[in-house]
Amino acid sequence: MDCAEDGCRRPAAVRVHDPRGDDRDVCLPHARSLAQREGVVAAPIEDADAEWP
Ligand SMILES: [Zn+2]
Repeated sequence: MDCAEDGCRRPAAVRVHDPRGDDRDVCLPHARSLAQREGVVAAPIEDADAEWP
């Protein structure tokens, strides 16, 4: 599965729980960015292609 962010083709590796929007699966760079926002929780996807560092 690809990252849910528009225009991003990296493999989704993290599920982001966003209190202001839908939960979605995104790549690591987007997860890091989204996790800076208050209330957002990012959790690694167990069987994702990318590795959690
Ligand atoms: Zn992405």
